[in-house]
Amino acid sequence: MKKRMVMMGECMVEMYQLVENVYHQSFAGDVFNTAVYLKRSCEQPVDVQFFTAVGTDLISDKLVRAVKREKLDTQLMLRAKGARPGLYMINTDAYGERSFVYWRETSAARQVMQCFASQSSVEQLLGADMFYFSGISLAILSDADRRALFDLIHQLKAHGSQVVFDPNYRPALWSSQDACRAAFTEAYQLADIAMPGLDDHKVLFEHSTVVEVQAFLQQLDVAEIIVKDGKNGVVGTYLDEGFAAPAHQVKKVVDTTAAGDSFNGGYLAARLAGVAPEDAVKYAARLAAFVVEHTGAIVNKEHFQRFWSRHRPSTFIS
Ligand code: ADP
Repeated sequence: MKKRMVMMGECMVEMYQLVENVYHQSFAGDVFNTAVYLKRSCEQPVDVQFFTAVGTDLISDKLVRAVKREKLDTQLMLRAKGARPGLYMINTDAYGERSFVYWRETSAARQVMQCFASQSSVEQLLGADMFYFSGISLAILSDADRRALFDLIHQLKAHGSQVVFDPNYRPALWSSQDACRAAFTEAYQLADIAMPGLDDHKVLFEHSTVVEVQAFLQQLDVAEIIVKDGKNGVVGTYLDEGFAAPAHQVKKVVDTTAAGDSFNGGYLAARLAGVAPEDAVKYAARLAAFVVEHTGAIVNKEHFQRFWSRHRPSTFIS
């Protein structure tokens, strides 16, 4: 039977500066990026559902169409009346340094749990093979909505869904480090697969090496752990068996946006294809290396297709 993955997060309007005062508009967000690379990487048909709230305006309609164009299922893209999607601008200075400005304080995605309570039900999610969420999915919710989300995940887990969590720590989105630490710890305790970056843990948990992060997550009983450390590669553990994988060498890094997101999507696609964790990280690293050689979060479909036809996940089985 076709597998079903539910990916919960926020997709925003992205404005990318081409030249002074001229912007290219697209859509991006950590979980959305992961969902796109997961769907594109799968060798078998898989139902990837994007779970979020958008508004009822024209740009929200455009966002839903963009998600559909990626062949993601949009049934769980709920509508928050009168709200609008979040937006961010990427500006590049004369030295190529990028800076981000966000307008997301009142974004529709923050209302996802309220929309879920009034427009959907647990039954719609039961039976999903996987539920994926990130620290950003948690950060944008009120305390009460975060609690409702944890309760929902508990129910899905009790019905057999595999839970995947990437903390993607963004200090600006949290009221305090304590609140964030508590939420991440609870998320890890629910997770079957954890995919943090070392940087996420450095400030928050004072871990300075990937091995420390790994040990911390093993104590929390996470069965499958992948700790990412940029160009230094990853270390992983699956049912207490450890492995490591270097990053794939890149001729020229153009833009590291979505390196971790694409890595996660690629890893999960490979796992779905029956690839073991120590080989799945190789496909994921190859995909992330391809993504950092291109501008923007989502590489265009034709380029991706050329990459995928040479490097399908199953070709990484050793
Ligand atoms: P996150 O943003 O989740 O912390 P990372 O920055 O650690 O993710 O990157 C995820 C993966 O992307 C790395 O494990 C590596 O495989 C790949 N990657 C990131 N930066 C580079 C780079 N400069 N060269 C090659 N691969 C990279």
